[in-house]
Amino acid sequence: MDKLYFGTGGIPLSTEPRNTENGIVKINELGLGSMELEFVRNITISKEKAPQIKKISEDENVKLTAHASYFINLNAADLEKRNASRSRLVAAAKTLHACGGYSVCVHSAYRLDSSKEDVFKNVKEQFEKAIQECKDEKINVWLRPETAGKYAQFGTIDELIEFSQGFDRVLPCIDFSHVRATTDGRVNNYDEYCKILDKLETGFGRKLGLEEMHLHIQGVNFGDKGEKNHLTIEEDPKWNYGDLMKALKDYDCKGCVTVESPNLETDALLLKNCYEES
Ligand SMILES: [Zn+2]
Repeated sequence: MDKLYFGTGGIPLSTEPRNTENGIVKINELGLGSMELEFVRNITISKEKAPQIKKISEDENVKLTAHASYFINLNAADLEKRNASRSRLVAAAKTLHACGGYSVCVHSAYRLDSSKEDVFKNVKEQFEKAIQECKDEKINVWLRPETAGKYAQFGTIDELIEFSQGFDRVLPCIDFSHVRATTDGRVNNYDEYCKILDKLETGFGRKLGLEEMHLHIQGVNFGDKGEKNHLTIEEDPKWNYGDLMKALKDYDCKGCVTVESPNLETDALLLKNCYEES
């Protein structure tokens, strides 16, 4: 990517009527640059509609990402459930590709009673198949396991770096609120943010580690188990988001920033402005 594009997780709230096409136009009108298609309950865009979405996003110069289904566990005890989970991920990738999109993120797995090694192995096996299915259908989008918000889920930064290194079309989606929630709030200052960016650069090189990013950034409420829910910037006064914007600027990061704050575009604009002024 040529720069960092800021956008919303879903259609901006001020869009009227609130549909995908109008949402993309609204993103551009607001001065934002990306939008995440929320396929979290179902795929909301038909095969027939996708080319139209693609055309609008190109005309408006809005980058599209997607969030795959919440009903995915690539480490489910039952193989049939793992396979069905993979199909949901591939379906999201396929639709996003038809819409001309860039990257699809997924909460890939719950750890359940599996050992660390078994979770890794199960998720890897399903990702290998997913990547092959995408290749067979000429689907060309990034598949991104997202950093886990809860300790019960697979996906620390270190795990996801190691995991993604085994593939060409897989990179982690870094959700900074999840990382903060699963480090008991530690990852919340400039040095900690830089450490993550350093790890990504070491793991993948500058071009893939820092110039093809898919990030989630918002406030978060967390406890013993990790993430409870997302918060707006205003609701999360302890969050040093300015430090994160400065780190992203200093490292000249590029890609898409999806803001999943409850107020969507309000915080997306606030973060974008903060980034530009950093
Ligand atoms: Zn997510």
